[in-house]
Amino acid sequence: MSNTPLALLGGTFNPPHTGHIEPALAAVEELGIARLGLMPCRIPPHKDTAGIAQQHRINMVNAVCAGHPTLYPELIELSLPPPSYTVNTLRALRKAHPNNALCFLIGDDSLYNLSKWYEWEALLDYCHLIIMRRNVDQDTLSPEIEAFTVQHRTTHPEVIRETTRGHVYFASTPLQNISSTSLRNQIARAGTVNLPAISRWLAPSVADYIEQHQLYVPTT
Ligand code: ATP
Repeated sequence: MSNTPLALLGGTFNPPHTGHIEPALAAVEELGIARLGLMPCRIPPHKDTAGIAQQHRINMVNAVCAGHPTLYPELIELSLPPPSYTVNTLRALRKAHPNNALCFLIGDDSLYNLSKWYEWEALLDYCHLIIMRRNVDQDTLSPEIEAFTVQHRTTHPEVIRETTRGHVYFASTPLQNISSTSLRNQIARAGTVNLPAISRWLAPSVADYIEQHQLYVPTT
């Protein structure tokens, strides 16, 4: 079995945008990793974004990955029984890839909130955490997250590639000041995705998909 390092970006991808893709591709290039899985997660039923069919999110992720040399869809989380805690998904991925370096990418907004994740201290038992830069207001980590990153941090891409798990790596990724929430709101307000200010954040195939299915546009 191949021991190629694997990188994974989990997200709701509602919709997937350049703020997901550009920093994540930059991170894997910096690390010398050839494959990046986009891993849609379940949206808990209580979230206001739960209205969009899961299949639309899968189809948009497939559209971004189609024909791309680096990206592939990783649908494992959707096949696992709920609740969808990241640590459970990583455990399943580790079982499927026992000998590979597994790199789980998160934006630094997620790092600030990491201690709220279920069994967050066990994450490094299964993977490396790769941190992508994002525009966030906070500028200091909580003491427990600070201690966690200091303890596990490496600045060496080869350590990430050549060990299977256990390290935190801060990647020098480009800032992309966009979120899915902002895009959904902008599309709803404009009544269309087809404005350059909106579509510039989307792969053309995703913008086409949103237009074709009239996603995020109010129906009344
Ligand atoms: P929403 O606005 O619906 O909450 P989102 O745009 O924040 O969605 P998610 O799918 O929830 O996107 O994010 C998945 C992962 O991608 C998270 O780790 C998040 O930090 C990261 N991410 C999302 N947008 C960006 C961005 N613009 N720059 C860097 N990382 C990002």
